[in-house]
Amino acid sequence: MIVRRAERGFLCALLLISILLCSCASAETTAAAATPDPEAAERSTVYIDSMDTFIELSAYGSNRDAALQAAKEEILRLNDSLSIGLESSEISRVNREGRGTVSADTAAMIREALILYSETDGAFDLTVYPLMELWGFISKEYHVPTAEELADTMARIGADRIILNEEAGLVTLDAGQAIDLGGIAKGFASQRLMDIFREYGVESAIVSLGGNMQCLGAKPDGSPWRIGVKDPFNPDFGLSAIVKIVDKAVITSGGYERFFIDEATGTTYRHIIDPSTGYPAESGLSSVSIVTADGMLGDGLSTALYIMGLEKASEYWRAHSEDFDAILIDNEGNVYVTAGIADDVTSEHEIRYIR
Ligand code: ADP
Ligand code: MG
Repeated sequence: MIVRRAERGFLCALLLISILLCSCASAETTAAAATPDPEAAERSTVYIDSMDTFIELSAYGSNRDAALQAAKEEILRLNDSLSIGLESSEISRVNREGRGTVSADTAAMIREALILYSETDGAFDLTVYPLMELWGFISKEYHVPTAEELADTMARIGADRIILNEEAGLVTLDAGQAIDLGGIAKGFASQRLMDIFREYGVESAIVSLGGNMQCLGAKPDGSPWRIGVKDPFNPDFGLSAIVKIVDKAVITSGGYERFFIDEATGTTYRHIIDPSTGYPAESGLSSVSIVTADGMLGDGLSTALYIMGLEKASEYWRAHSEDFDAILIDNEGNVYVTAGIADDVTSEHEIRYIR
């Protein structure tokens, strides 16, 4: 949760999402007619600037406004405990002191991050923060490190040296380490919002946290939500694919989101770091979207599979195909879709299926 994305991109994303949302308004209202809620098809939307991104929450039904208010409060609360930019946050305190107690939510996120670290063979590593700093992704004063700087910083990287006592909520870092939950926080938050909406009796809702989408139920008319996957080569205006979902998240990591170009060499460096090299990931993929019922898993895996590249990511999916599906776009613009969502994805490009 660090370098802010371009506002331009956000506005265009909003436009795309709005187009997709509006396209549903004309559909027949079979399910809506059957429900007793007279406001089942009424929508409210709130916009929030938090978690270092732009957030748009829409909910339907008579309880929608109360649900959205509770959802907004939860986002602000999560941001307060997680934000690396806030000195008072739990994460900042742990990073400053090298250890400390954290809330149950933060402990749960750290636990999930540690599981992802071992399951992805270290591709997802919540300790990459010192590398993000070194490359200037935090301060926006970008900098290609020297070999010596890189070696010094790499000595501090490795989630295997983080100790979490979840019962006590106590997290302990190794010397010089720092953690950042930016790779899964938005997925955790969108997952939590679904719980809040359900508590309030909302049956249909869609949220976007900086382009990470999660939906509750189906659209009020009973048809699936249609989520656009941005064209990584034209992210402001183009879509590479559209995926239909019910009760799922679509979470994307794209190299186009935050990057800088080194003037000396013309090389582009992107904000997803390969912890095995200390360099921004160059795996041949330009975007990875994870489609899953578990938003936090989707967020972590979008980052991890981006780093793995097509071949390893495909293997990872084959071993975990019960948990998620994926849409991968390589640097040539080829679109790959895992077999589990073969019937749900459309694209103007030829789709290559991963089986
Ligand atoms: P975004 O935050 O732009 O939605 P991602 O979900 O892909 O994009 O997460 C990228 C963020 O995750 C980075 O900004 C950084 O905070 C963190 N990060 C970068 N590389 C890694 C990594 N290898 N493992 C875990 N987190 C990472
Ligand atoms: Mg992610």
